[in-house]
Amino acid sequence: MEKIAIIGGGIVGASAFYHLSKSGVDVTLFDRGDAGQATRHAAGIICPWLSKRRNKVWYELVKHSAAYYPVLSAELEKQVGMSGYKQVGTLVLRDSEAGARQLADLARERRREAPEIGEIKLLRPAEVQAHFPLVQSGFFGVLVSGGGRAEGAQIRSALLQAALQTGHAHYIEQEAHLAWEPGTRRLQLTTGGVLAGPFDKVIYAGGAWMAEELAHLGFTSDLVPQKGQILMVQTEERETDNWPVVLPPSSKSIVPFEAGMLMIGATHEKGQGFDLTPTKAAQDEILEAVRPFLADVEKLQLIQQSVGTRPYTSDFKPFIGQLGDLPLFVAGGLGASGLTTGPYVGRLLSEAILKTPHALDLQPFDPASYIRPHQ
Ligand SMILES: Cc1cc2nc3c(=O)[nH]c(=O)nc-3n(C[C@H](O)[C@H](O)[C@H](O)COP(=O)(O)OP(=O)(O)OC[C@H]3O[C@@H](n4cnc5c(N)ncnc54)[C@H](O)[C@@H]3O)c2cc1C
Repeated sequence: MEKIAIIGGGIVGASAFYHLSKSGVDVTLFDRGDAGQATRHAAGIICPWLSKRRNKVWYELVKHSAAYYPVLSAELEKQVGMSGYKQVGTLVLRDSEAGARQLADLARERRREAPEIGEIKLLRPAEVQAHFPLVQSGFFGVLVSGGGRAEGAQIRSALLQAALQTGHAHYIEQEAHLAWEPGTRRLQLTTGGVLAGPFDKVIYAGGAWMAEELAHLGFTSDLVPQKGQILMVQTEERETDNWPVVLPPSSKSIVPFEAGMLMIGATHEKGQGFDLTPTKAAQDEILEAVRPFLADVEKLQLIQQSVGTRPYTSDFKPFIGQLGDLPLFVAGGLGASGLTTGPYVGRLLSEAILKTPHALDLQPFDPASYIRPHQ
């Protein structure tokens, strides 16, 4: 039986772990569980269709990824009784009826190729408040029923549990490193300073930490960390579990959870490296950005401020696939939409390893464009 190792157990590594284990291979996942792991800090917005971003390659990936969420979620619910995903719909706010109509037209146009967008409703201000009572009065909205929210830590945990149930998947909560076997072009994997394996193939899905690991192997990566902060706040409302995710015309969004909890964020802070310090400046930035849209901001009780590190490439596009002719498969640079794409990217990696056909052409995501041997 082929033996495969995965280094990095965020959403990408966890999904590859799940999909490989389902295919019957012997797979081992090593995860160091960095405190800044992006997956566990993600806001959880799964609604890529109405983005202003125009990159076609990225859009194809997010479209397939969003369509895959309900499928994977149903599988995980059946297998382990949870998935961390809920299709609550997404409410996009606009300050004029004309703006909302324009957006609804765009949604209808995109739905021709992405039926999973679901029902599209144009909402007047009173209807907006009926769906999300905490929205300030006067906003029009477009509600798309296919949008959802995902709790990164829960999906990751469901994927791990489902993989471990197969009996040929192994999870090791430890750091792992790759090195060249002395005098050869063969890779070896060590954990805790001890040689592990041997493995036939390795996936490296180390999020924002990949550049450092790949540098040890002699590669320069186009990958930078980006600090992201979010706030978890308690409202006076209680029945919020089925409220839609709100995307105001702002860089910050509002994701409702159970029992009156809202997640608000996130910041996009460049040049902060792997710093995980929550700041008052970020808190103020987030609250000021949502104040025009969210009523009674001063009544919100701050429960937690959390910080994660997103992995980015310079053109904001991820890379997915085999690195040259090495037995090394990588996926990274998922950026701000990585919780949306991560489960599907993990599946694509598993299909690339197993050489099974996949729905998406991986050529535009060739890692060779982002990871090059040192000059
Ligand atoms: C604040 C914030 C909000 C976000 N909101 C959203 C959102 O609403 N919607 C959305 O789609 N996306 C969102 N994202 C983006 C998304 O979370 C990330 O793009 C995605 O989680 C990246 O997943 P990953 O598996 O590549 O990396 P990570 O989740 O960072 O996981 C990498 C893992 O690899 C491990 N690792 C690294 N090196 C080693 C090693 N040598 N040995 C062992 N383990 C190792 C790390 O410890 C870590 O556990 C958000 C991100 C942040 C930070």
